Amino acid sequence: MLLNISGIPIEVCKKDIKNMHLYVKPPNGSVMVSAPLTISDEAIERFVRTKVSWIKKQIAKFDNQSRQSEREYVSGETLFVWGKQYYLQIEYGNKNSIVLSGDKAVLTVRKGSTADQRENLVREWYRELLKTEIARLLPKWEKITDLKATGWQTKYMTTRWGTCNPKTGKIWINLQLAKKTPECLEYIILHELIHLVEKTHNERFVSLMDMYMPMWREVKATLNDQTLDYME
Ligand SMILES: [Zn+2]
Repeated sequence: MLLNISGIPIEVCKKDIKNMHLYVKPPNGSVMVSAPLTISDEAIERFVRTKVSWIKKQIAKFDNQSRQSEREYVSGETLFVWGKQYYLQIEYGNKNSIVLSGDKAVLTVRKGSTADQRENLVREWYRELLKTEIARLLPKWEKITDLKATGWQTKYMTTRWGTCNPKTGKIWINLQLAKKTPECLEYIILHELIHLVEKTHNERFVSLMDMYMPMWREVKATLNDQTLDYME
């Protein structure tokens, strides 16, 4: 039997045992309950519901382990740009720059630069890429939806892809979207625009998403299965 509680699939296994046991198993944090043969499905579900916050915490631990480890920004590391993978190649020079060439991302820095300085260079470069695309795509989606943001900014965030303030009409977009395919950015722009008129992910929100971007669920899935730096 498979339960689905708060969107978490939970495998139920009935056995000749006395008590219920709940497991969150490596490597992906899959959830399993073993329960006595005599216990009803409703009782199992009630039991699991009382443990949801604990389950989520355990799953989050596995998630963190599978995320990208901290980077040094040295040759051979990978860099994602608009969904494509590049290999970092560090070169030395007086002027900082990043140039994509074939499957390489050539990062020119001063000799003796620190990992933090290189990270900062990459981050600001992502910001420029992202700003150019937002400037192009936000007006496109504003036109389609007839919704309008009063302003927007990019921001390095570790817990969300975008956010907005419905009171002021302002939108923030996560810098890390420059690593994802361009559809992911479009999805987040649309998502935040709709939040300007619908705060929660209720039925109306979902029906607006369906209307403007019928494929949004697939885009959302690709957004969340790619690794992110320090996403916690
Ligand atoms: Zn949302």
